[in-house]
Amino acid sequence: MADFDPDCIFCKIVAGELPGTIIDEDERTIAFMDINPATRGHALVIPRKHARDLLEIEPEELQAVAVAAQRLGARALDRLGADGVNLINSCGTAAWQTVFHFHVHVIPRYEGDPLRLPWVPGPGDPDEIATAAAALR
Ligand code: 5GP
Ligand code: ZN
Repeated sequence: MADFDPDCIFCKIVAGELPGTIIDEDERTIAFMDINPATRGHALVIPRKHARDLLEIEPEELQAVAVAAQRLGARALDRLGADGVNLINSCGTAAWQTVFHFHVHVIPRYEGDPLRLPWVPGPGDPDEIATAAAALR
């Protein structure tokens, strides 16, 4: 996989070919504001090196993104007065991924904000849980 994909909008932000409101950078990652924020301060952390998704990103790059996301999550609490933070990654269209350059959403959370869990928690079928667990082991 080439480090730069000419058809990728996030690669273009890394290269400075498209504008991005960059808030954090290190050797392997950059972070910038999401143009459609879920809450105040919603940012995206990406590897500089193109990788399509969670399955394709190299472990060292994933680690660097995770560390940068931790840094930004802490900053959201410290600088924006957030009460919590969600880190979200979507892998594949079925999981809502729309931009195919790996990214982690850093979403500051505020007491009483309008975001809701995207599933309804409820007890699962024990046999089904056990079968899935066996397949995953
Ligand atoms: P996904 O749906 O793949 O998990 O997340 C993609 C995110 O990228 C979305 O939240 C969307 O708002 C954001 N996004 C899409 N295009 C651009 C862009 O050109 N600039 C920025 N800053 N964010 C973008
Ligand atoms: Zn890319």
